[in-house]
Amino acid sequence: MGLVVQKYGGSSVADAEGIKRVAKRIVDAKRNGHQVVVVVSAMGDTTDELIDLAEQVSPIPAGREFDMLLTAGERISMALLAMAIKNLGHEAQSFTGSQAGVITDSVHNKARIIDVTPGRIRTALDEGNIAIVAGFQGVSQDKKDITTLGRGGSDTTAVALAAALDAEVCEIYTDVDGVFTADPRVVKKARKIDWISFEDMLELASSGSKVLLHRCVEYARRYNIPIHVRSSFSGLRGTWVSNEPHAEQGARKVEQAIISGVAHDTSEAKITVVGVPDKPGEAAAIFRAIADNEINLDMVVQNVSAASTGLTDISFTLPKTEGRKAIDALEKTKSAIGFESLRYDDQIAKISLVGAGMKTNPGVTASFFEALSDAGVNIELISTSEIRISVVTRADDVKEAVRAVHTAFGLDSDSAEAVVYGGTGR
Ligand code: ADP
Ligand code: ASP
Ligand code: MG
Repeated sequence: MGLVVQKYGGSSVADAEGIKRVAKRIVDAKRNGHQVVVVVSAMGDTTDELIDLAEQVSPIPAGREFDMLLTAGERISMALLAMAIKNLGHEAQSFTGSQAGVITDSVHNKARIIDVTPGRIRTALDEGNIAIVAGFQGVSQDKKDITTLGRGGSDTTAVALAAALDAEVCEIYTDVDGVFTADPRVVKKARKIDWISFEDMLELASSGSKVLLHRCVEYARRYNIPIHVRSSFSGLRGTWVSNEPHAEQGARKVEQAIISGVAHDTSEAKITVVGVPDKPGEAAAIFRAIADNEINLDMVVQNVSAASTGLTDISFTLPKTEGRKAIDALEKTKSAIGFESLRYDDQIAKISLVGAGMKTNPGVTASFFEALSDAGVNIELISTSEIRISVVTRADDVKEAVRAVHTAFGLDSDSAEAVVYGGTGR
């Protein structure tokens, strides 16, 4: 039997009971003859609590110290998990990201993994240990500073280790039974997906389905690591994410569904740059100011300029956490660019419909908009790709909109309701 990487999210190790329950699962995998590497997240909402604490001390905490603080969460859970496993009579050793060889660039708060050198993990495994690795963290190649990979980054740690250690599979244990056609916290009739392609999962993840982080799926696709997303609270088979479905993955070789699912995201804000002179170079200057501050944008829309004034508005969405930085950066360029004002709106939601089958189904966009209109939901921005349509709406409308679209595309399950085993949904 080969090597497996198992990742347990925060809700799976929320308290001492959770840690002991997870320890039993890990020991079972070891007893079944596997070499086991475990990646663990911080307990429950620890990371959010540490962020709240930092913000009380300083409204814009410095990247280096912020990362140092946040990695403490995973250190607590990794040590406790190793203790719980030892208590069951098995050998376990815990490692920080740095000790496990997770090497990153030096962009604090959202570092990228550039290399994984898991020599110490190999040695620990060869000596018969279960290796426990703190998720979401690494060490920067140049400055040797502690970094974090961005929220939800333990998923990426797990896949990166699975690739570096040539694991059979990367199991992502969470608080729902797999990847569903919509967030089970919002749509009780969401349906569990047996198998989903990397391509569709990537699109769902980048549209806000936080059950898997998009960087983790990107990594898994690049190194062709199959992911099995499942619950740490049940023994059920979950969702396989891979290039091709295999028989053992519980998926029949059927034609891919037209629609994989509906994703929503309330973590973004919208900035509108009002009264931009409609001439070459203006958009370039605006987005250069944003890019120079390492801010990632999502949707971008430019209005047709009013003939009488020759001025236009440019709107874009970005993570709320970057809102202040973006506004500050744009304010500094105001006189150079010559726009009139900035509007900031963080009461928005993005709703996306994802599916590789939609590129050959011309009616999908119309049905999507009809479902929203029937639900009385107003659309503020639209963006499309070959396998996704996204709209921005008011945040208040998000649940209703997701449910309406899910029903309209025939995704509602007629069997039991989707179970959410734990977590606060924070
Ligand atoms: P963990 O702490 O295990 O990393 P997360 O909270 O990051 O867990 O991810 C699991 C959560 O993702 C679920 O509780 C669910 O609310 C949410 N989620 C969003 N979209 C989906 C989806 N399409 N399928 C399953 N879960 C989803
Ligand atoms: N603890 C980190 C977070 O809450 C990383 C993770 O859970 O994946 O974002
Ligand atoms: Mg997660």
